[in-house]
Amino acid sequence: MLCDRNFLDDHDRVLVVGGGVAGMHAALTLAALDVSVLLVEKNAHLGGNVLRLDKVYPTDHCAFCQTWSTARQCYDSPLIQVLLHTEVLGLSTDGEGIQARLTMRCPLIDPSLCLFCGACRNACPHGALLERDPARTWDPALPPVMRVDQARCNGCGQCAQACPVGAINLEAKDEELIVPVTDVIYATGFEEPQPGDPRHAPEFGTGSHPDILTAMEFEAWQNEGRGLGPLCTPSGGKSVRKVAFVQCAGARDRRHLPYCAAVCCMHAMKQARWLKRRQPALDIALFYTDLRAPGAGQERYMRAGAAEGLRLLRSRPGLVMAAEQGGVGLRYAQPETGRPVGEIFDLAVINGGLGQCPLPSSRPGADGTPHSASPVGVLKAGFCDEPADVAGSVIQGAARAVAAVLRRHTAAGGGCSSNPQSAPSAD
Ligand SMILES: Cc1cc2nc3c(=O)[nH]c(=O)nc-3n(C[C@H](O)[C@H](O)[C@H](O)COP(=O)(O)OP(=O)(O)OC[C@H]3O[C@@H](n4cnc5c(N)ncnc54)[C@H](O)[C@@H]3O)c2cc1C
Repeated sequence: MLCDRNFLDDHDRVLVVGGGVAGMHAALTLAALDVSVLLVEKNAHLGGNVLRLDKVYPTDHCAFCQTWSTARQCYDSPLIQVLLHTEVLGLSTDGEGIQARLTMRCPLIDPSLCLFCGACRNACPHGALLERDPARTWDPALPPVMRVDQARCNGCGQCAQACPVGAINLEAKDEELIVPVTDVIYATGFEEPQPGDPRHAPEFGTGSHPDILTAMEFEAWQNEGRGLGPLCTPSGGKSVRKVAFVQCAGARDRRHLPYCAAVCCMHAMKQARWLKRRQPALDIALFYTDLRAPGAGQERYMRAGAAEGLRLLRSRPGLVMAAEQGGVGLRYAQPETGRPVGEIFDLAVINGGLGQCPLPSSRPGADGTPHSASPVGVLKAGFCDEPADVAGSVIQGAARAVAAVLRRHTAAGGGCSSNPQSAPSAD
């Protein structure tokens, strides 16, 4: 359920940070074991990055339906209190328990009351009521969320008067809270590093041209919910005939992200197969280092894709950039001869740059001082622990929940043959 303020006085609960699939499954497992949970999510809804996907491999089922029903179970559980718009700034310990420092961003419109009827938007004389974050208007998978654009709002209150359910409070202010908890499970997932972040590899051109897309931007661009007509370039509506998928871009690279992001080979294959299904005549080249398909059903999925007429090139392009004559140019070594060649595509999708979200405890607080995290009782689950697909993240979330319950049981003097201290910790 959405958090009731009285619940914040209860000390005996586990804090789960991040409402993606790993965090939601950690919370549901804890609740199934009769443990109270505070599930904190910085966005306006649960679901994490999976909610931004169109389909999920290896079944090609709708990402939204699966994820949303899990989110619904979290909202409906009496043992799970959900705090949205809330970020964990850090943890500290007094030796007895853990104190979590949270900041709750006040959305001005209570999402649990809002009916999305649009009455506020019609009443506002300044056009300050927006549907969804404008930075995400391209993302049709997100549920609609009304918000107030504070740059345009002059506080006249006509929207609040027009709202039939009293969901708008223009006086509301952000709040910082200290919440005591017994254990913490971080499930903060991943983010795509933006230009300027040292984890971002500039040679692959993301952020420099609209036809060079990150994998997540591609998911939104080809989302079936936006229609199924012929594919046109994001830059100028030119019809798309040639697409390049560039794997391991910035990943397995000590300068940026030293690890394999584990999911990119499979999701590039998924994206390429969906494009082929939509427009069979497309020329699709997939540049890879080695194609990895480690999970259940994935090898079959990969082979089926390879048989659908994709050009699979074992080569790692060193440069992706807008070409002078139009389109996107790639420089790569020809797999057969090793000779450097250039080729122009209408669109390039850059895969591999998935950075683990930095843990809040390593970030300084508002006053600039870092907060120490107690390693006892602090665990990590999902992509922020180790790059993993949905199935792996779900399993990890549930497993860390069981580890937290065992630790609590032992700390309370209960007998247990396993050693919960040996469970992976956040440090
Ligand atoms: C383009 C692309 C396509 C993919 N396709 C597939 C697919 O088809 N099939 C598949 O199995 N996998 C796929 N994956 C992988 C899948 O997205 C991940 O396995 C999954 O998102 C991991 O879930 P998670 O809960 O660990 O993290 P996330 O989904 O990243 O969720 C983390 C959550 O934590 C929140 N958070 C972060 N920091 C804080 C904080 N300080 N305080 C509060 N909240 C915080 C975030 O807002 C987010 O909601 C794909 C990945 C990409 C990039």
